[in-house]
Amino acid sequence: MMGLTAVEVEIESLNNAILAAENWSDQYRKDPDTHAKLIRTESRLETVLRRYYRELSDRAGTLINWYAYHSRLSQITAAASDDIKVDVIISDDALGKEDGLFIQTIFDPIAQAVALGAISGEKVYTVDLGITETSAVVQQTARDLVGQLVGKKIDEHGNITDNPKAQFRIGDKTRADIRQSISTSLALGEDQATAVERLKKTIKNPKRAGTIARTETVNAYQGGLLRMGDQSGAVGKEWQSVNNSDVCGTYANLGVVRIDYVYDPVSRLKAPAAHPNCRCGLRLIYPEDPAAANLNNTKLDIPSDDLSIGYHGSGNNLSNGNYALGDAFYVTRDQATAAEFGKVKAYELNINKSDILFISDNKQYADLVAEALRKYPGENFNTAFPKLVLSKGYKAVEMSPSIDPLGGVAIVDQKLIP
Ligand SMILES: [Zn+2]
Repeated sequence: MMGLTAVEVEIESLNNAILAAENWSDQYRKDPDTHAKLIRTESRLETVLRRYYRELSDRAGTLINWYAYHSRLSQITAAASDDIKVDVIISDDALGKEDGLFIQTIFDPIAQAVALGAISGEKVYTVDLGITETSAVVQQTARDLVGQLVGKKIDEHGNITDNPKAQFRIGDKTRADIRQSISTSLALGEDQATAVERLKKTIKNPKRAGTIARTETVNAYQGGLLRMGDQSGAVGKEWQSVNNSDVCGTYANLGVVRIDYVYDPVSRLKAPAAHPNCRCGLRLIYPEDPAAANLNNTKLDIPSDDLSIGYHGSGNNLSNGNYALGDAFYVTRDQATAAEFGKVKAYELNINKSDILFISDNKQYADLVAEALRKYPGENFNTAFPKLVLSKGYKAVEMSPSIDPLGGVAIVDQKLIP
């Protein structure tokens, strides 16, 4: 790992004390040893990110195509500056390289936090999978988390490709900052040196290093814990919030849910952190835990409700022609999920919940698929599945977000299709 300057060491040890004094969920306190290590990892991540943003700020000038900047500058008047498309002024090549540098900066601390989550789970629940930082499961979880952060997919050989489904991208924030700064410079008619100074100040933003470090360390730790639980036979989980006034209180109130439960279908949230500075934890439920009994008789999923308005998104073909529920008219219950499929249109549907076949888990889904193919031999899945749903007396079929966050509601009754 990189050598630290004396100032960085000083800041890091102060930061350790501040972080340790925060209100963490009880789950972390059950294993004080890994918790102390987690805090040190969080501080270290903040140090390397501060350094990254400082160096990015030093490189700010290289992110700009100055020829394009100057030619725009000579064309515009202050009044017209709002219409300027500044994206052509940003160097995509230079900004693309930043993703790689960012990944290099954060990968090790993130992998450490994933490993700590898994190791603390092994201790607290007395299972022995022998997980270390180099375990394949840790490395894979870390690659997924880091990839999500930059909107990329990283394979086991370290190859990086675009991930079109990324929920949020660190690089997009940098790009937005550059766009904002350059727009201002253009409007003010600034020369290159002044524009670079403005850009440097915008990018430096030391607060961002702290926010990313705090959120992503918890994400990584809980991600490691959850994967460890999954691999060692945990059947459920319970969100332990530290502040009931925020969204985490709602998740905690759900009590014990299945291990694969998705708390927020849009962000596909399965574990903390739910927001910056979230210090919540997960309690894992193994079959021998008395709470596991609740898993069988509690309604765990968002129940299928009457569907008065459905949102249909079109334009982005995410499914590549493979529809999880066959050929049908697909809608979602919220606009944000529909927006993942493209342009959103709302439809008044007024379908009663008794007309919707709700699929709440993977086994139920697999059984229905097998039944459809058995019942309609010679037909393919796309036509057989909607027929089966109709034959059971339903007009639509809905997939729980815990199986597929983008599954939505497939309307199979032709009369109801708008
Ligand atoms: Zn929280």
